[in-house]
Amino acid sequence: MQRPFAELAVSLFAEPALSKAKGPFEAERTGSERFASGRANRLRITGIHGVNFLSIRNANRMGRYGMDQKDLELLEKSAAAVRPKDPTEEYFREIIRSLGEDPTRQGLDRTPRRVAKSLRYLTSGYHQDLDKVLNGALFDVAYDEMVIVKDIEIFSLCEHHLLPFFGRCHVAYIPDKKVIGLSKIPRLVDVFAHRLQVQERLTRQIAETLMEKIRPHGVAVVIEARHLCMIMRGVEKQNSVAMTSAMLGVFRDEHRTREEFLTLVHGPR
Ligand SMILES: [Zn+2]
Repeated sequence: MQRPFAELAVSLFAEPALSKAKGPFEAERTGSERFASGRANRLRITGIHGVNFLSIRNANRMGRYGMDQKDLELLEKSAAAVRPKDPTEEYFREIIRSLGEDPTRQGLDRTPRRVAKSLRYLTSGYHQDLDKVLNGALFDVAYDEMVIVKDIEIFSLCEHHLLPFFGRCHVAYIPDKKVIGLSKIPRLVDVFAHRLQVQERLTRQIAETLMEKIRPHGVAVVIEARHLCMIMRGVEKQNSVAMTSAMLGVFRDEHRTREEFLTLVHGPR
């Protein structure tokens, strides 16, 4: 009896050895007994997790593998069935359902996967090693004037509503024989912004980390941000900006230093 291609594909994907495999691999099956006669007698599947059937989507190739559109759909379904489930993705499917929507309808069917992926990126700061990010970019320099990096763009997620807050961050420090590569400061800001945050803590964490890593005479951090949880929910006027600051060392103790920083950031008042 001839086995239709798609049926074969289903059984192939159902093989425990394949469905349990972690990471990309290649499965190759040869032999006409495994394929409907007259169709391709050779199938190569690369990487079950990201099975990319797009590459065999075009008609030529489908023809070469002896597949028609129906075969392809079945094959994709079987691949989806054995792909290890991502819990985050599954939860979002449920959330969409609980909101009264149909997570299987076109437009929404791939949303859980996209949301899970984007959330993982937006919270990637939890898994970043600060020392790796700073990568020893500390230099001995006989410079003891204020160093300022202004207008660093920040995007973060408020931990109360999981809605974005975004704006600008200004960082200053007064070196004590050591400076840090300027480009490292925005990266450090990102490590903390890419977490579930409240603006006050974000401000403080940036300041304290710089204090600890550079051991300067002082650190100042100001963040001005707009919170979608305020703006979209109509809690506050649309243009309101939340400002937070953290002043450590000389910025806290010396009024003049603090004023100099604020003037450089905001202009004279
Ligand atoms: Zn909020």
